[in-house]
Amino acid sequence: MAIDIVPRRAWGARAPRGGYTRLDSTRGVKVHYTGGRVDPGVVGDHDLCVSLVQSIQRHHMDGNGWMDIGYSFVACPHRKVFEGRGLHRLPAANGSGLNSGHYAVLGLVGNAGLVQPPDGVLHAVLDAIEHLRERGGAGREIKGHRDGYSTDCPGEPLYAWVRRGAPRPGDGDGDGDGTEAPPFPGRVLRYPPVTRGEDVRTWQRQMRARGWEIAVDGAYGGASRDVCRRFQRQQGVEDDGVVGPVTWRLAWEAPGTPEAAGTPEAADAPEGPEAPLT
Ligand SMILES: [Zn+2]
Ligand SMILES: [Zn+2]
Repeated sequence: MAIDIVPRRAWGARAPRGGYTRLDSTRGVKVHYTGGRVDPGVVGDHDLCVSLVQSIQRHHMDGNGWMDIGYSFVACPHRKVFEGRGLHRLPAANGSGLNSGHYAVLGLVGNAGLVQPPDGVLHAVLDAIEHLRERGGAGREIKGHRDGYSTDCPGEPLYAWVRRGAPRPGDGDGDGDGTEAPPFPGRVLRYPPVTRGEDVRTWQRQMRARGWEIAVDGAYGGASRDVCRRFQRQQGVEDDGVVGPVTWRLAWEAPGTPEAAGTPEAADAPEGPEAPLT
């Protein structure tokens, strides 16, 4: 399903107060929530989504003194993606000094009222992320605002989903073939010393199926650990080189291919006077 974008004009966006800072590429995307109460009525009434996005822009411009709404895109329950700052423009929502590394996508849920993200929100967040990857130079990382910044954002339910690898609702993974991870073996795979067993072989076979160069020999040594680390970096989780429950599940359920795995971390450039928010 193609992305359903609501252009700025269609939601009555105010004009920005000044020029945007150009962003060629990012390491990925950070996911946000509103940090306030979201009227559960939005689920049945898209007009309320429009009003909410307008009020967020108002708050960012008149309250925070920003030049525009802080987010790159906003995802609503109707699987629509509101254009915020959009592609190749520095967002303001990730926290001071943290915006050049990630685009900012808001899911229209809050810390009260509508708390659990409806499937439409999750789909729309992913539609926005794919759009940012295809057209905006976004890298593979999907993180929550709280990663690297002191905030509750994006709230427990949305953050738990991010930590699971942000799967598409309904198909158990991100690429539509219905793959589900087999049960976690109950022990972590690590090196040193070499971990041996059928569980190692199962994981290696899956990584190989994803396109990684890895021997399927049932022995988790230095080479397996290196693949694991690169995969973890690609997925935006801690690269400890240990296959625990999250890394195990991501091997089956995370979207994507190895490509240029393990992109080096770029430093966050400082960026102007805009202040952080939730
Ligand atoms: Zn809506
Ligand atoms: Zn946030």
